[in-house]
Amino acid sequence: MTPTQFPDGMAFVQGRYVPIAEAAIPITDWGFLRSDATYDVVTVWDGAFFRLEAHLERFLHSCQRWRLDPGLNAQQITEVLSQCVRLSGLRSSYVEMICTRGQPAWGSRDPRQAVNQFYAFAVPYVWIANAEQRDQGLHLKISEVQRIPSTSVDPRAKNYHWNDLTMGLLDALDAGADSVLLVDAQGNVVEGPGFNVFCLRHGALITPDAGMLEGITRRTVIEIAQSRGMTPQLRPLPADELRHADEVFITTSGGGILPVTRVDQCQIGDGRPGPITRQLIQTYWDWHQNPAYSLAIDYSR
Ligand code: PLP
Repeated sequence: MTPTQFPDGMAFVQGRYVPIAEAAIPITDWGFLRSDATYDVVTVWDGAFFRLEAHLERFLHSCQRWRLDPGLNAQQITEVLSQCVRLSGLRSSYVEMICTRGQPAWGSRDPRQAVNQFYAFAVPYVWIANAEQRDQGLHLKISEVQRIPSTSVDPRAKNYHWNDLTMGLLDALDAGADSVLLVDAQGNVVEGPGFNVFCLRHGALITPDAGMLEGITRRTVIEIAQSRGMTPQLRPLPADELRHADEVFITTSGGGILPVTRVDQCQIGDGRPGPITRQLIQTYWDWHQNPAYSLAIDYSR
């Protein structure tokens, strides 16, 4: 048993480890002023990171895409993240790494002159759906709000350009739904605030192939499906096809695979989480025990 020393979490800010409540960034950092930042979130479950390598690879790719330099390599980042978790004492944690543009010399508007900054924190595990929603399934609204086109902001590189997601979410919550899915210009669903989407229709497992972040949980579901002999279809997913699917679920590091039982006014299947969704959820959590995907944290150091 590890005592939880800082149960609210620990952060890494400007080279120092501080309790989460004391973590702060300079107000002039372009990460704050312009959403000019990238990030990634990896989880710790039962004292071990899940698919850390994949998250690090995606984070470093996002940094490169936005011309940001975190100043640390994958091994050094692993050490910082592990230390945040270790100092917090948390056995289940939501661990975020962030690289911001920083601030150019005062008065300069040249981003190349900014000194990029690396931040990280570990807080208690975050579920993006509550226990009842996980048990009964979520109600999603398909938004009229279009996701920012990929030609403007590449959604495969993680970013904080979330106004479209947040406006869509507010509309959905006002309408009584639990969350929202945004569409592209052709009316295909792409993703929601912090999650990817899948459906099962006539035995086929379908997920969008473009216009969204390529989630690590999405990748895990694709791999689980392939390991069971299924061939997932990665292709555009029209909103109406989703409304009339046999099963729907969303995927996120904030809770794994989460069942959806209503899309707009349409009940999905018999209104309860579907059998394949439930099997995938089981396998997703089983895979957390697989040494190929988990990296145990040494809390004794
Ligand atoms: N889509 C967006 C916009 C996200 O921000 C996230 C996660 O933060 C996801 C999808 C799901 O990705 P992952 O499964 O790697 O958590």
